[in-house]
Amino acid sequence: ETVVSIKNAYLRYASEKGSVTALENVNLEIEKGEFICVLGPSGCGKSTLLKIIAGFHQPTEGTAMMGDTPITGPSADRGVVFQTPTLYPWLNIYQNVEYGPKMRKVPKDEREADVKKYLELVGLKDFAKQKPYELSGGMKQRASLARVLVNQPKMILMDEPFGALDALTRQNMQTLIREIWNKTGNTIFLITHDVDEALALATRVIVMSSRPGRIVKEFHTDFTYDI
Ligand code: ADP
Ligand code: ADP
Repeated sequence: ETVVSIKNAYLRYASEKGSVTALENVNLEIEKGEFICVLGPSGCGKSTLLKIIAGFHQPTEGTAMMGDTPITGPSADRGVVFQTPTLYPWLNIYQNVEYGPKMRKVPKDEREADVKKYLELVGLKDFAKQKPYELSGGMKQRASLARVLVNQPKMILMDEPFGALDALTRQNMQTLIREIWNKTGNTIFLITHDVDEALALATRVIVMSSRPGRIVKEFHTDFTYDI
């Protein structure tokens, strides 16, 4: 089952110096349950590709589809985790995770059960009443992940989610994301600079190059790497 399909996509940003081609003729089909890691130098269009899937940008040419539907904007079915944790500082961790379901008017009982389930899954059930500033970077990133998971997205998009963390925390987060992928069978699209991370986590690695933003190589991995 194809979750996302991008065909002949170009993305040109307008700038003072004219237009910048961030993506050139990108073709990508993502199957349900894949764990895709995108590798490539800075500026090669990784974030731009993620933003097209997220619905933040639309291709200048070509198409981006989710199932049979063109991607025209962001939606809770494509949850995004950024390098910097995105939490409301004035809400506690529980309220942060509850925010999405509350906006979607999920009934209180169901909401409570979901929030608890995902806080537990990311290892934060004892920190529900804490405010974001009280937690470490790794824990805030776990909370950001719970905020996305609670919406039960069809796909999780992550832009260098562990890039700002120290080595040990990064390793813990890699283990966690692998566990979540195992448990939920979710489709994951993760951008990283770290070759080892890509090889450890991905079922398929996509390599991009910046001349200009193109997919230049992709391969399936066989999970022989330890995290
Ligand atoms: P990566 O995530 O691989 O570092 P990006 O997708 O962020 O690459 O950027 C690809 C190219 O597009 C770069 O040359 C970058 O400078 C340019 N770019 C990204 N966002 C914008 C923007 N909003 N306006 C103009 N140029 C941009
Ligand atoms: P990780 O995110 O992998 O758990 P961290 O370095 O973020 O790694 O934190 C390690 C552990 O230390 C946490 O799981 C938590 O139990 C504890 N911890 C870190 N910061 C705090 C804090 N501000 N308050 C309470 N416990 C904390």
